[in-house]
Amino acid sequence: MLSAVLVEPRRLELEEVPDPEPGPGEVVLRVHSALTCAADLRAYRLGQGAPGPWGHEFAGQIWRTGADVRGFREGDAVMTAHTAPCGECLLCTRGQGNLCENLEAGMAVGGFAEFVRVGAPIVQQNMFLKPASLSHAEAAFLEPLASVVQGLGSVPIDPDDTVVILGCGTIGLLYLACLKALEQPPRVLMAGRGTERLELARTMGAELVIDDWQESVVEVVRERTAGLGAQVVMDCAGQPESWAQILDLAGRGSHILLFGGCPGALPVDMDTTRLHYDQIALVGTSHFTPRAVRSARDLLVGHRVRPGPILTGSYPLRHLSQAFDRLDRGEGTKFEIVPHPTEAPGR
Ligand SMILES: [Zn+2]
Ligand SMILES: [Zn+2]
Repeated sequence: MLSAVLVEPRRLELEEVPDPEPGPGEVVLRVHSALTCAADLRAYRLGQGAPGPWGHEFAGQIWRTGADVRGFREGDAVMTAHTAPCGECLLCTRGQGNLCENLEAGMAVGGFAEFVRVGAPIVQQNMFLKPASLSHAEAAFLEPLASVVQGLGSVPIDPDDTVVILGCGTIGLLYLACLKALEQPPRVLMAGRGTERLELARTMGAELVIDDWQESVVEVVRERTAGLGAQVVMDCAGQPESWAQILDLAGRGSHILLFGGCPGALPVDMDTTRLHYDQIALVGTSHFTPRAVRSARDLLVGHRVRPGPILTGSYPLRHLSQAFDRLDRGEGTKFEIVPHPTEAPGR
């Protein structure tokens, strides 16, 4: 089969490699749709994981099943996350499977290929049948959406709240979509950069979109909240400059959700008086539990979150490098990669 391999920073090659074989409890998927992710772009720039296969957001059809696979048959269209917790480590037994110490061991990477092998713990916990009403491209959003749902579960949201989202990339837009899917959605203000992304935030329902190249996000948020600040601030930008202003956006008794990972382990300065006397909670979030994956599945299958508009375009696998060249230049948000273009069902 054909598989994309990251050879060194900014150099991708397509290699002919042996087809993956499913072991007991495992399946091999024929990839219909794989998505680029900000983590992939970082790996592309830095050569992380090179040389090796990559791509961790994908959906497809079960091509082969190993022994003892229950609930799935060859030919089933499925959606899946690329990891599952072990269920046995300390954090798993505390119900924090998103932080499982053994996540990396069974990770299904290699979605930028014609076929990909999915391990038994994933098949059992985080793989689901995909209904025909959901395209493979939408289904491939299961993984990033699960991370978003996980974060959302750790901050209280009230219908009267003002929520500020920093960053209009895929994650910021998925947070917006999830908030809008609530029965009584809060008011959402989004700040970010790039005309296309800001426009997307507007069309996906943000009450106010702030171009942080043109305006001071802190000033606008204060003005829109009668000087009180927001009840929830979500950082989906992962830049030291967004963390630096985050406390100035947060009101008394608020929650700050830290989703975006800053490059490197950087120190941050924070006003201890505000954190303490204004009772501001800093909440980190990482990865997802199977429960978050199931909620993300329900949001997609019920079409309560429609991620399709986030995709900038689609490329066949052999033109994968064009998608990353564009992302590297700051163009577009997320691309769909289609390994078998002649059969692509379209979006
Ligand atoms: Zn991802
Ligand atoms: Zn574990």
